[in-house]
Amino acid sequence: MSEKHEGGCFCGSVRYSTMGQPFRAAVCHCRYCQLRTGTAFGISVYFKENKVIFNDGACHIFSYETESGSKATLSRCANCGTTVSWRISLDALNNLVGIAGGTFDPPTFWYELDREVFTRSKANFCQIKSPESFEESPIYKPVKRDDGHLKGGV
Ligand SMILES: [Zn+2]
Ligand SMILES: [Zn+2]
Repeated sequence: MSEKHEGGCFCGSVRYSTMGQPFRAAVCHCRYCQLRTGTAFGISVYFKENKVIFNDGACHIFSYETESGSKATLSRCANCGTTVSWRISLDALNNLVGIAGGTFDPPTFWYELDREVFTRSKANFCQIKSPESFEESPIYKPVKRDDGHLKGGV
């Protein structure tokens, strides 16, 4: 018996379902997540690729390269712009799909948080209870400095 959860974007055109427990659920306070969401943190709920099924709602794909030299590829609803899912080209996240943690249908926050990462840029009003907490991330290996994104400016 594997539990199933569903969710999707704001307008309802992109929908997904997930099977079982996530591989990992993390709150991320990094600047990329802050800029991407326009708010204090991102919530990444990772599943193995074969545990997530998407409908055929049209998505726009956006990508950027991070300080680790990995490529983050975001899928956003082509109609309403909600970021629904992503993939990151890091060995540690190989064959995993990240689901945006706020997009599950209610009860939205059914999963347990495993960790919070990049607390170095955490908003001081955030009070998150999580078993593990990291200044950066255990899988973070910067190969270049991305001061433009991380400190403001271009
Ligand atoms: Zn939408
Ligand atoms: Zn992040």
